[in-house]
Amino acid sequence: MGFIFWEKSARYFDGVIPELAKSIKKTGVFVNETIENIIDKVQKHNLQAVQLHGKESVDFCLNLKTEFQNLKLPIEIIKVFSVADDFDFSVLAPFEAVCDYFLFDTKGKLPGGNGTTFDWKVLEQYPSQKPFFLSGGIGIDEIDAVNEIIKTNLPVYAIDVNSKFEIEPGLKNVQLCKDALQRIATNKTNKMSYNVDEKGYYGQFGGAYIPEMLYPNVEELRQQYLKIMAEPDFKAEFDQLLKDYVGRPSPLYFAKRLSEKHNTKIYLKREDLNHTGAHKINNTIGQILVAKKLGKKRIIAETGAGQHGVATATVCALMGLECIVYMGEIDIARQAPNVARMKMLGATVRPALSGSRTLKDATNEAIRDWINNPVDTHYIIGSAIGPHPYPDMVTRFQSIISEEIKWQLKEKEGRENPDYVVACIGGGSNAAGTFYHFLHEPEVGIIAVEAAGKGIHSGHSAATSKLGKVGIIHGCKTLLMQTPDGQITEPYSISAGLDYPGVGPMHAHLAETGRAEFFSVTDDDAMDAGLELSKLEGIIPAIESSHALAVLNDKKFKPEDVVVICLSGRGDKDLSNYIEHFKI
Ligand SMILES: *Cc1c(COP(=O)(O)O)cnc(C)c1O
Repeated sequence: MGFIFWEKSARYFDGVIPELAKSIKKTGVFVNETIENIIDKVQKHNLQAVQLHGKESVDFCLNLKTEFQNLKLPIEIIKVFSVADDFDFSVLAPFEAVCDYFLFDTKGKLPGGNGTTFDWKVLEQYPSQKPFFLSGGIGIDEIDAVNEIIKTNLPVYAIDVNSKFEIEPGLKNVQLCKDALQRIATNKTNKMSYNVDEKGYYGQFGGAYIPEMLYPNVEELRQQYLKIMAEPDFKAEFDQLLKDYVGRPSPLYFAKRLSEKHNTKIYLKREDLNHTGAHKINNTIGQILVAKKLGKKRIIAETGAGQHGVATATVCALMGLECIVYMGEIDIARQAPNVARMKMLGATVRPALSGSRTLKDATNEAIRDWINNPVDTHYIIGSAIGPHPYPDMVTRFQSIISEEIKWQLKEKEGRENPDYVVACIGGGSNAAGTFYHFLHEPEVGIIAVEAAGKGIHSGHSAATSKLGKVGIIHGCKTLLMQTPDGQITEPYSISAGLDYPGVGPMHAHLAETGRAEFFSVTDDDAMDAGLELSKLEGIIPAIESSHALAVLNDKKFKPEDVVVICLSGRGDKDLSNYIEHFKI
């Protein structure tokens, strides 16, 4: 509840605040007031927050914040920005550290209370995770539009209402407030909770657990990534490359014979048709454009099976940047065709010779390289894992998958939301992209499929949601398979891409909250599902994607259900595995 301490306002408050419920935060509203007077009002009225509505500078906010800290007053600072139909969001960056919330109000003759709205579409450019108040002429007629904004992934923290709920200035229409509150409340699903928060967490998972030496690199990225991704020329180049180089949009294909077989409506999202044969290129294109914006000249990556190494080498060739891929010595021997591809694309493949000489050792080498080359090098991580901001950045690049599903399904079924989305999970990038725009649509069921290998309890699996415990891997807190004393367990899956001992923090949170249903599929069941798709639809899927398809045997869908399965990659790379398995 706001109390306006600006004398020129028709709602100027100069009384005694009565006893209020504890749940009400008393907020003082000020316009270009002195720090001394603000502190005076805060102490006199026992306020919990201040809203700064004038031209208060970054320095002013910093001094005020420092003063509050010196006086041990836990006061939140809300800084207001007036928005016309366009707004230069770059002015916000220096304020991030000195206030707790932003508030976006309409630019009018007087600060606040003008009763006019601005075009909320400009908020699509919001480059930050700082929670904000939405304000500016919100009345009962605007509630539907407000709810639309609440449903997006924007970090809307609160709705600020004023003049349109008044009988006269300073006197609110209580019934109207109640009506609005009810309509907002009933429309509010658990939003926000599935996206990363300002500190880089999904619930208890995520964060950035990194050696101090790596801090400058990760921090630079954290400060820049959203801003860069919101820049119009970045977006234009990303979209252009996805279209002309990757071949997007990838088709949403109605799989008729597969649907008949399983007596439900199955659509396949054809990421297998992308250039290089899988979804991974969506992310490497995005990250190399970020690297260029940051002025980096050199790219490093780690790879296990070589798929991410190839996707990285590809975009480095495209952009003419130096590329070094770290790969365990054992994996180099096992994945000869991908090693050859990387070399042909001009990348240097450096063997990791320590430890088990597999993926985690390659990761250690890449991190060591980054520490030694902090200025000119960008580290492209290949899944929705790693220290914040990587999981969120990768998820956003892959979210093109669900963005396309929405309009493609609208064309084909007349509705944007399917009944289920299904994806396989290694680290979780194709799944994160497939789920992203449905996370806050409660009517869409989310199904994640991980590899059970030779059986969940066989000692040879990668069923992290079933076997994982909270721990730290790859710079983030998540679920991972580990021994009782915390050593990471060697995972196993017939599919190289799912052979990872953890899941990304977003998925750990989806598992913990129950928002997603997790299935664990064995090697044998996945291989059968891959063969079935080949025979019924003429599409040979990557073995990773075959895991997602196998859910059709594990879960009974209704005939009228629309089930969208992400076909994350094509099976060319897996032919020898299929042949050996089926003795073809
Ligand atoms: C790498 C890979 C995966 C697993 O990685 P995610 O980050 O979990 O998506 C799945 N499918 C294919 C085809 C892959 O190449």
